[in-house]
Amino acid sequence: MPPKIRILSENLCNQIAAGEVVERPLSVVKELVENSLDAGAAEIRVLIEKGGKSLIRVEDDGVGMGREDLFLSLERHATSKIATAEDLFRLTSLGFRGEALPSIAAVSRMRLASRTADGEEGFEILVAGGKVTKASAAGVPAGTVMEVRNLFFNTPARKKFLKTETTEFGHIADFISKIALSFPQVQISLEHNQRLVINLFRHSTLADRVVGLMGTDVFRQLVSFENTSAEGLKVHGFVGLPDLQRKSPAAIHSFVNRRFVRDRLFQHAVMEGYRNLLPRHCFPVVILFLEIAPDLVDVNVHPAKREVRFRQQGLVHDFLASSIQNALRRHRPQSEVPSSTPEPRSYTLDNVPDSNVNRGPQGPGSLTKSKDIPNKVAEEQMPFISPPQSEMSRLLSSRPKERGEVFSFHSDYKEGTTPGFFSSLEILGQFHNSYIVCRSLDELVIIDQHAAHERIGFERLKIEFDKGQVEAQELLFPKTMEFGFKEAAALEENLDMLPDFGFSMEPFSGKTFVLRSIPAILNPECAERVLKDLIEELVGLGQSRIMTEAVDKLLITMACHSMVRANQPLSSPEMRSLLKEMDAVDFNTHCPHGRPAVARFTLRDVEKMFHRP
Ligand code: ADP
Ligand code: MG
Repeated sequence: MPPKIRILSENLCNQIAAGEVVERPLSVVKELVENSLDAGAAEIRVLIEKGGKSLIRVEDDGVGMGREDLFLSLERHATSKIATAEDLFRLTSLGFRGEALPSIAAVSRMRLASRTADGEEGFEILVAGGKVTKASAAGVPAGTVMEVRNLFFNTPARKKFLKTETTEFGHIADFISKIALSFPQVQISLEHNQRLVINLFRHSTLADRVVGLMGTDVFRQLVSFENTSAEGLKVHGFVGLPDLQRKSPAAIHSFVNRRFVRDRLFQHAVMEGYRNLLPRHCFPVVILFLEIAPDLVDVNVHPAKREVRFRQQGLVHDFLASSIQNALRRHRPQSEVPSSTPEPRSYTLDNVPDSNVNRGPQGPGSLTKSKDIPNKVAEEQMPFISPPQSEMSRLLSSRPKERGEVFSFHSDYKEGTTPGFFSSLEILGQFHNSYIVCRSLDELVIIDQHAAHERIGFERLKIEFDKGQVEAQELLFPKTMEFGFKEAAALEENLDMLPDFGFSMEPFSGKTFVLRSIPAILNPECAERVLKDLIEELVGLGQSRIMTEAVDKLLITMACHSMVRANQPLSSPEMRSLLKEMDAVDFNTHCPHGRPAVARFTLRDVEKMFHRP
């Protein structure tokens, strides 16, 4: 019997490879631009016609190629970037497989033209469907021009999958903006149907490029950060303040060793960093550059090199999440209080931290503010001032009697605690029994009292919970409660962890239990509901990560049920106390549900409202 198996022609191999590498016009742009960057270009021009379906042209002023190299570049597995298997783990270039150009050439009509800086003359090659149709000397400037026409002209099945011009171009523009973030020093432009869409001049810093791409309005809401781990991981970039929300994760830009990646690990780590700061289904704006030793990351796991695999996934994840969390936690609204503003009288200088508690800006997770946002270093280096116990502590706690130690937790919470912004505000009044209206020197600040209370309560509970000291109040009349089978079983199993949350229960008979105490912070009327939520969580409990999330959720519910709601008139001292509490805890400008608790308007914002020039 004659053999049925045959070896495919080289051209067919290239077409098959193209199926993986070249999915749509974006893939071509990506490979060509990456080549230009690898070639050390200082300027790259990208021209697109009809969403890339009719023309993609990438011009650069990089090192260029001589005649022989130009031919070789079209061979499969021909690359100047690696030579040995070990090189795969020492990669510093974006490309390395040597299959992009032959793959693109196999499914298009292509023109490659190039000249090295010291080359007398340039050279050009025309290829159609993988076959060289013409090769000749050509007068071209130093650098390389790659032109790709009629993409998928010989693979109609692929062509059918292309979306509209606008969609295809959208992907391209998105990619160009992302890669531009990674190479601020490279001048990059993008034209579509002869219209200049992106034009970025050489920028000296990432910050300048971010402004160039995203505009000053977005930039003002970004906080720059950097961090280094003991294991040598490094991260730097920008995190958006929680107010800067997007409906999709598209504004999470992550890079590994300057390579743009779309990786679930990054997205998960980012969302972990923003936990409790964003409403559900909202995503932040984040730009993060991870630098990691090339041998600890495998970039050869995805045909378009979009995903990567780390040797220690967990380590990278946790490092990123905690870096982001620290950056956000250490950022608090800026106190632009003039030095003449008197310190509020009621403060007592109670405790001065030792130097290792008061982390300066160089500490891990160090934070430098975006250029336009003034630096808060001075604020962070001020001695810790413990706020006095306040009227608000009475309001926050629903217990009948005053207890001086209620807010003793403050003194354990030196890190990041700064007297400052909120206390320094001048209170103008309360609006609708729900909002506290204040002003600073040049800002109008509106605080949602209920959201602010929730945040305070949540932070307080978190600290108590982490220390295993959630305060409990004993019920005067213990309460019997009956549960379903599943709930009763889960409860039975977890009775000993209830005190961690400030509850204590004893089995009574069958599915009936006696509730003896509830968290001190909780309004007794809501205790049963919160307990039921807790038991529901217990029923569904899984591994430890779910556990932390569940704990946060429960603490949020508890905080929510302890606090003064909206529609409650507050006296002046009560409002003042609330502001002090806000300074005393690690106050993020959002309630734990992710709703904003504070809105700030600069003079400019107000002027804009009135259309003042
Ligand atoms: P890879 O980038 O994986 O090496 P490619 O098929 O994309 O593979 O490119 C093959 C080779 O062609 C590269 O290794 C490089 O030497 C050369 N090359 C491609 N594009 C350019 C360019 N714009 N400037 C200079 N050299 C280039
Ligand atoms: Mg390449």
